[in-house]
Amino acid sequence: MKLAMVGFGQAGGKIVDKFLEYDQKHGSGIVRDAIAVNTAKADLMGLQHIPDNDQKRVLIGQSRVKGHGVGADNELGAEVAEEDIDEIQGAIDSVPVHEVDAFLIVAGLGGGTGSGGSPVLAKHLQHIYTEPVYGLGVLPGSDEGGIYTLNAARSFQTFVREVDNLLVFDNDAWRKTGESVQGGYDEINEEIVTRFGVLFGAGEIGQGGEVAESVVDSSEIINTLEGGGVSTIGYASETVETSSSGGGFLSRITGGNDTDDLDTTHTTNRITSLVRKAALGRLTLPCEIEGSERALLVLAGPPQHLNRKGIERGRKWIEEQTGSMEVRGGDYPITSSGRVASVVLLSGVTNVPRIKELQQVAIEAQDNIDDIRQESEDNLDDLINDDEDELESLF
Ligand code: GDP
Repeated sequence: MKLAMVGFGQAGGKIVDKFLEYDQKHGSGIVRDAIAVNTAKADLMGLQHIPDNDQKRVLIGQSRVKGHGVGADNELGAEVAEEDIDEIQGAIDSVPVHEVDAFLIVAGLGGGTGSGGSPVLAKHLQHIYTEPVYGLGVLPGSDEGGIYTLNAARSFQTFVREVDNLLVFDNDAWRKTGESVQGGYDEINEEIVTRFGVLFGAGEIGQGGEVAESVVDSSEIINTLEGGGVSTIGYASETVETSSSGGGFLSRITGGNDTDDLDTTHTTNRITSLVRKAALGRLTLPCEIEGSERALLVLAGPPQHLNRKGIERGRKWIEEQTGSMEVRGGDYPITSSGRVASVVLLSGVTNVPRIKELQQVAIEAQDNIDDIRQESEDNLDDLINDDEDELESLF
């Protein structure tokens, strides 16, 4: 599946940059074009793979914040995006939109620029183009504090409404203790692009001449994401021996069907176990998978380690677990890979305790901020006015 990616804000830019790196490394061909938008000049300069020109790195809000960013003020982020939407559109004009299957807007929802700007851009793109517009929203860690949580809760609500589907990644579930924030983000960003890379790469097969038994094409990804709402992704992988012949060593020397059968059973079992691990392990947004509206299962790896039976069993198992009647599945053959990987996309999830908790903390933060603001206004009043109101100001 070919995407036009827009990284909004610092996190968004860094993740899209990482997608380009992934694409170059794996030749997956999913990033048809990539743009970074920011109010902070320094963040744009720090990118490595997005071309360094005004068409691909767009600085907005210069008259308001002079290239210094909006702090963590996402209302200002949204205002600036609206005011400078023509500049963003100018960059999108350089994208061959007729060659892309969808837009993907990537942003950290806890900050200011991406948090506020992404929903504004999504609304704009929906208005202009017929291609689907997806969001990849990153939730802040719970240790980042009230303002970030409040920003994320407000942005999440708005962003979901404006996109065709919001794919969510929760930093909180992936936080590692004892690591520098920067080092931690690098690893987390790898995890993000690996999952999304396999998912979106699945719709791009055929170019390497590898024929899938049951192909996942981009329309299946689009159909799974259709209908809106929130999505999460599960992933599991295992290293495999990469001989190019069909069976294992024994079957080659004996030429016997018994060992072929054994190999087939082993392959099938490995696939079903990877599907379970992906769906029951750590999801990009932890949630209850029961009740998911739609799902898509992708099995990636060397073709001799993929089979229809395993995928069909995995698909049935997901149907049982989610209760969904709309579970698609297929393979993504990658001859050169030394791993078999399973990606499970769960779309239209609704039982997500983490979002409820985020909203609760956000409401508390909002109340606190109102209280503190009121209190400091009262304190300032006390300070500048004399007790008996005997003094008069000049004008
Ligand atoms: P903005 O530039 O104003 O949009 O804000 P940032 O993108 O710097 O930060 C928004 C949020 O994104 C932060 O609160 C973090 O939770 C998260 N974040 C920042 N950088 C990264 C990153 O490289 N990877 C991930 N996964 N999250 C990040």
